[in-house]
Amino acid sequence: MMNKMTVIVPCFNEEEALPVYYREMRKVMERMEELQKVEIELLFVDDGSTDRTLSIMKELNLRDSRCQYLSFSRNFGKEAAIYAGISNASGDYVALMDVDLQDPPELLPEMYRILQEEDYDSVATKRSTRTGEPKIRSFLSESFYKFINKISKTEIVNGARDYRLMRRKMVDAVLEMSEYNRFSKGIFEWVGFRTKWLEFENVERSAGETKWSVRKLFMYSLEGITGFSVAPLSLASVVGVVFCMLSFVMIMVIIVRTLVWGDPVSGWPSLACIIFMVSGIQLFCTGIVGEYLSKTYLETKHRPIFILKDSSDEVKERHHEVVRA
Ligand code: UDP
Ligand code: MG
Repeated sequence: MMNKMTVIVPCFNEEEALPVYYREMRKVMERMEELQKVEIELLFVDDGSTDRTLSIMKELNLRDSRCQYLSFSRNFGKEAAIYAGISNASGDYVALMDVDLQDPPELLPEMYRILQEEDYDSVATKRSTRTGEPKIRSFLSESFYKFINKISKTEIVNGARDYRLMRRKMVDAVLEMSEYNRFSKGIFEWVGFRTKWLEFENVERSAGETKWSVRKLFMYSLEGITGFSVAPLSLASVVGVVFCMLSFVMIMVIIVRTLVWGDPVSGWPSLACIIFMVSGIQLFCTGIVGEYLSKTYLETKHRPIFILKDSSDEVKERHHEVVRA
């Protein structure tokens, strides 16, 4: 029997990139079907697009039965799209790929070959360069990776893309992690298994525009930090202890000074500064606790990670089978 592979493609307002992607991907699919004897299914996830993305997916589904789709009731974010994709994937092998051709489809045959011939459970990719990206953005990303790897036990690989191919057993492990606050780069490391890393040079977007603003990326990095480290929670205790010791030394100095020189009243500006600084630190620490509390709060609500509005018929049937079973 032929092996089956599902390629999950999250799309948010990608009417321009989607046809280009399909044209390129079809060539790779045909080559792989012929040479590597693997049946490939494209599972597009429409993440609440407001343009023609969904109708293009429907067209593709009519024209080519290998194209399936899921559609969300609103924009739930790329992480939710990935989760929906792997929940509905039927393949023995599952790949994640962006629609803008920044994840080169030509790498896929090589990734599949590695899983066939070598003893790995997953092949992941990372960028060796960040050409074409604004300098400030690269700098912020680099700082984020340095910081999170200092405070987290789970290694978050710098430059890692979401582009990867996994065996079924790893996909099932990822599905077990049904947390609401999702950070894939951490989740894929956390579940373990043997991963081979391939590097490629950064490619610029084929069409359309990036959906990630610096603000969105910042919020996403907070997701990574709170999701995979609790070290910031100890900050309050550490700073507290340091300040207690400091104040003890200061009290000693003041007592000695008063005894030797008397106590002329002066120095209220320095006092004001100290009050400002200490209350600033206190608020900052409370803020960190709040950040974790809010994540915990959302997690305990057990809200669904995504809500489907529509999907291709074959995917619908798959769902019925699961329910019946
Ligand atoms: N994407 C998504 N939901 C979102 C944002 C992005 O499904 O809310 C998809 C998008 O359509 C693309 C992929 O995630 O296929 C990567 O997005 P983008 O290319 O904008 O990010 P970048 O490559 O700039 O990091
Ligand atoms: Mg992109």
